[in-house]
Amino acid sequence: MTDPSANRERRHPAEHSAVNEPHAPGRFPSGSPDSGLSLTRRELLKSGTRGLGLLGFGAATGFLAGRDRKADTLWQINPDRCIQCGRCATACVLEVSAVKCTHSHGMCGYCKLCTGYFEPEPINLDEGAENQLCPTGAIKREFIEDPYYEYSIINELCIGCGKCVKGCNMFGNGSLYLQINHDRCVNCNICAISLECPAQAFVQVPVGQPYLLRGKGTAGK
Ligand code: SF4
Ligand code: SF4
Ligand code: SF4
Repeated sequence: MTDPSANRERRHPAEHSAVNEPHAPGRFPSGSPDSGLSLTRRELLKSGTRGLGLLGFGAATGFLAGRDRKADTLWQINPDRCIQCGRCATACVLEVSAVKCTHSHGMCGYCKLCTGYFEPEPINLDEGAENQLCPTGAIKREFIEDPYYEYSIINELCIGCGKCVKGCNMFGNGSLYLQINHDRCVNCNICAISLECPAQAFVQVPVGQPYLLRGKGTAGK
């Protein structure tokens, strides 16, 4: 594994600043007419990007130049490389990360004790908030038949922290994994998270195949 500090000098200065307006889902999809050179300062602020307080307007538009071109590739996460370091939740230029968990139901064991859903030592095996690993309650657990339960991601609540992915990978089938959600991602020229990723998990994929999905029956995309 590469030393995370090795990437630190390449970190984008825009991170972790306070622009609080959330990005509107579907705004500025890659290659859309809205992605032209005519972006105004107001539009950038509306997009919910981090760091404009630290950047000159010119620098910001340069970093976000993904909107200024008709891209033939998109950023995506190779789930086989991801080590769930947590930076996907904090390093995206959007106030709420474009990275979300997705779930391959075809790979899932429908476990009663899901290690992606429950805290390591849950008080009870039920849906009580105190028993859940997810900090935002973004995983829905539904009884199917004894002893099987189905787990689904509530996309709007997921912040891409990867805690459930880590839990699933430790003891489960790896059916939970992270992907960049392309109805939110603005396809930056250089993905800010890729600069921080300690696992070189960020790759560029063809526009026509925007997700690197695991297994059959994958839900959520
Ligand atoms: S930054 Fe890389 S290793 Fe960390 S959670 Fe994201 S994809 Fe995984
Ligand atoms: S634990 Fe993190 S990655 Fe998993 S569903 Fe919850 S917010 Fe999303
Ligand atoms: S390219 Fe990376 S930093 Fe930019 S919006 Fe997409 S996931 Fe976030």
